[in-house]
Amino acid sequence: MTLANGRQRKNKLDVAHKRISARASTPLPTPPPQGGREQSESVATASTLLAWYDRHRRRLPWRAENGARPDPYAVWLSEIMLQQTTVKAVAPYYERFLSRWPTVSDLGAAMLEDVLKLWAGLGYYARARNLHACARTILENHGGVFPDTEEGLLTLPGIGPYTAAAIAAIAFDRKASPVDGNIERVISRVFAVEEALPGAKPRIKALAATLTPASRPGDFAQAMMDLGATICSPKKPACSFCPWTEPCVARQRGNQETFPRKTPKAEGKKRRGAAFVVMRADGKLLIRTRPDKGLLAKMTEVPGTEWVHGFDEKTTLNDAPLKAKWHRVVGVVNHVFTHFPLELAVYRAQVPKGTRAPKGMRWIAFDEIDGEAFPNVMRKVIAHGMKV
Ligand code: SF4
Repeated sequence: MTLANGRQRKNKLDVAHKRISARASTPLPTPPPQGGREQSESVATASTLLAWYDRHRRRLPWRAENGARPDPYAVWLSEIMLQQTTVKAVAPYYERFLSRWPTVSDLGAAMLEDVLKLWAGLGYYARARNLHACARTILENHGGVFPDTEEGLLTLPGIGPYTAAAIAAIAFDRKASPVDGNIERVISRVFAVEEALPGAKPRIKALAATLTPASRPGDFAQAMMDLGATICSPKKPACSFCPWTEPCVARQRGNQETFPRKTPKAEGKKRRGAAFVVMRADGKLLIRTRPDKGLLAKMTEVPGTEWVHGFDEKTTLNDAPLKAKWHRVVGVVNHVFTHFPLELAVYRAQVPKGTRAPKGMRWIAFDEIDGEAFPNVMRKVIAHGMKV
């Protein structure tokens, strides 16, 4: 670049920055310190995103109509359900919960077993237990009313920093900046944050906070969520439809798909075990309830071995719940939990009508399966065990 060209470019940048500073109703984001950001003539502002949101906001079952007051119960329920799950998967569960327990007090007064049953299939069952504990706390300690600040919400069971910020912003229009995986992706691209996750989380949160406006912070939070979910996708983001396409530094560089940077994760070591699908001649299935504590606590399962690293299938039948003619079903069931992958061999047997259930187990009819709190891994096991 020649000296004259350099001066021209600097002047242009100064003018652009002054213009943007003068009109911005929200604070300008601080440039990231990594030294990798190129100067841009445009900066990401809340007003640009809000204007886009006003035209393109998603209609979601839990989202209040434009101008209507959001219901904190609806916001909280949807935020808990949406963790690690998609809008499509959550929608029917959300409707069922709301029609069975229309208020947080109704949910707080419900039996945990009923909550787990209605939750079954949505995964990450600790969330259902926390959901129930939280509703109970609101009912018993807060008169059935949600605290309306981030700090107050953080004292409730199962409500972490993200959920507290999301509820405070969306339900109470507090100036709070929820940052989930989608928003992390947007921010890391707009500012080309070179630091890898998870170390970059505080930096990304701080950058999100610099963008959050004092006016309409709830709409801003939802606009960020919509942008991350519909436009700024992990692969092939639709940058030409993005309201921040000009200021987005990663887009300018053409390497947006490489953000957010991530530290490679060491995968948990695979565990193995076996499950026993026992059918009685009168069409009943043998099941039991898992212990009160630990993984999938209080959920329903078919009997099985422990899930361990050094599983030896040769001795599996020592753990069979009944003496029977066992048939090893071809193939295995694979399932991935948050911390480890699991592989289960499935054994099937049929026993005569009148066979009594071993201690701690019970028989259920097949049409009762949907009413039980079977986690997804057990639904896979039963389906696999039925294979001919
Ligand atoms: S321009 Fe593209 S990469 Fe940047 S925030 Fe928008 S959609 Fe994401």
